[in-house]
Amino acid sequence: MKIEFFKHNIEQDDIKRATDVLNSIFLTTGKVVSEFENSVASYLKAQHAVGVTSCTAALHLSLLAYGIGRGDEVITTPMSFCATSNSILHAGATPVFVDVEKETGNINAELIEAAITKTTKAIMPVHLYGQMCDMKRLRTIADKYKLIIIEDAAHAIESERNGIRVGELGDTACFSFYATKNITSGEGGAVTTSSSEKADIIRMLRLHGIDKSAIDRYTKVYRHWDMPVLGWKYNMDNIQAALLIGQLQRIELLWQQRGRFWKIYEDAFRDIRGIGILKTVPDSKHARNLFTILVQEDKRDSILHELQNRGVGVAVNYRPIHLLKYYRETFGYKEGDFPIAEDIGGKTISLPLYPRLDDTEVYYVIESLKKVLKN
Ligand SMILES: *Cc1c(COP(=O)(O)O)cnc(C)c1O
Repeated sequence: MKIEFFKHNIEQDDIKRATDVLNSIFLTTGKVVSEFENSVASYLKAQHAVGVTSCTAALHLSLLAYGIGRGDEVITTPMSFCATSNSILHAGATPVFVDVEKETGNINAELIEAAITKTTKAIMPVHLYGQMCDMKRLRTIADKYKLIIIEDAAHAIESERNGIRVGELGDTACFSFYATKNITSGEGGAVTTSSSEKADIIRMLRLHGIDKSAIDRYTKVYRHWDMPVLGWKYNMDNIQAALLIGQLQRIELLWQQRGRFWKIYEDAFRDIRGIGILKTVPDSKHARNLFTILVQEDKRDSILHELQNRGVGVAVNYRPIHLLKYYRETFGYKEGDFPIAEDIGGKTISLPLYPRLDDTEVYYVIESLKKVLKN
């Protein structure tokens, strides 16, 4: 048996929408992007959504929109994909890592205040695997120290916690439509914010800092445009947006389908010695982007390879960022700096989780894992 680690959910309808764009005259940022932005804002109950080319771009532009750059510090988590802290470096600021909670792998709010200095400007929490951070608590800390919150919601488009929707308490929230995310256009991202001023700045910064969008230049009477600030080339195009519109309409169904497999995994692993699972906190909606297990650290890599040998697609999300070569060499990080993140990073294995799995495949993953653990 061969079970892919991930399969996307693009259907004929989505392909039809993308083909319609290809058969039209306008491929880049235009009406289809606006339509997607409106639907994503309405799904998230956000005031504004801006489509960009990646979550990395969304995080980067969020920092720029709040004037965060050289000499500033941003508090974030080492238990994430390196995009999170790289975006802080792209902005010219310095990431300051804070260790994570053992139960969820999310940034530990207890440790944040001790990491705040005179130059701290923002907190960038990650809703790891789709489990939302305690945003009420983070907002309270941020308000006390007048900090901005930029949510890395790459896994978390469906998430809620204590009645709070993802992006609701953050100054911006950043979403990814990368190939393995809950909805995908291969590459893509979005920023949401309740500030119309910041949304306008992000719109300008996603296209070189010029003050008119390409669609305006194309469809309306010609007007000269200007470039008041230096921006980037991060605009989402109509083809990406066309692929996403239908997936967003089906998003709750897709979430429920992953939820069924999630429960089968949880029920199967709950009582197995040698397998740990992270906690889903009460009164929350977990977006279920990644299902991970924790195994004995010195056996993790052999278990991983054994699963692969049996045809089960696996991944590691994540070895902690501070121990990546660049971060060690640039900032002098070493083993022991963030012990909980290192512990999770040393033990974690991600299993296949997506709607196009079937029950036979899920049980095959479970049985394979049980056999591998026995050896
Ligand atoms: C995927 C991911 C990103 C980066 O998303 P891109 O759209 O590929 O830039 C950022 N943060 C986390 C937690 C991710 O998983």
